[in-house]
Amino acid sequence: MNKIWMEQSACTDFSSDVFFPSDGMGVINAKSICENCSVSKSCLEYALHNHIDHGVWGGCSERQRRRILKARRIDR
Ligand code: SF4
Repeated sequence: MNKIWMEQSACTDFSSDVFFPSDGMGVINAKSICENCSVSKSCLEYALHNHIDHGVWGGCSERQRRRILKARRIDR
């Protein structure tokens, strides 16, 4: 999968720890950064495609990504 989108991510100036939060407030904080990211859609699809279990990707928590994957399996 093409990863050129990573060069345009809004999170380059943040520690990667921000996107692997340990509590709900951390998830909210990470999501707020993703809200202003122009490549969030690509980021989310990358995480879904690669079954990345941990962290906030594309503005979605681990739980949200599991729901999306489950919904997509049901739709098939
Ligand atoms: S959507 Fe969030 S985690 Fe993904 S590249 Fe953008 S800021 Fe980073």
